[in-house]
Amino acid sequence: MHEMSLAEHVREIIEDAADAQGFRRVRRIVLEIGELAAVETEALQFCLDVVLEGSVAAGAQLEFGAVPGEGWCAACARTVPMHERYDPCPRCGAYGLDVRGGTRMRVSALEVE
Ligand SMILES: [Zn+2]
Repeated sequence: MHEMSLAEHVREIIEDAADAQGFRRVRRIVLEIGELAAVETEALQFCLDVVLEGSVAAGAQLEFGAVPGEGWCAACARTVPMHERYDPCPRCGAYGLDVRGGTRMRVSALEVE
């Protein structure tokens, strides 16, 4: 389950930020999740609850935002929207799109005190 390693990565980011900025508590965490990142938000939420327990972000409110998937179609020579990793091009139907966006998860905002 890669959600656990993602959750641990989130905790590291938060702890680094807490060290750098000197906040003691995180009230809200906003995460951006790519449409093609294959992240189950329910599983991630569960893992974050476990991983953040006892940290500055224990009990923080979690908010998930979606980042649309994008791929490059060589036939159309343009970027097209992708909803699944092996989807064909929605314009010309070609397979083998080069995935360009929406594959990552990142912490986009922290509300701290
Ligand atoms: Zn195309």
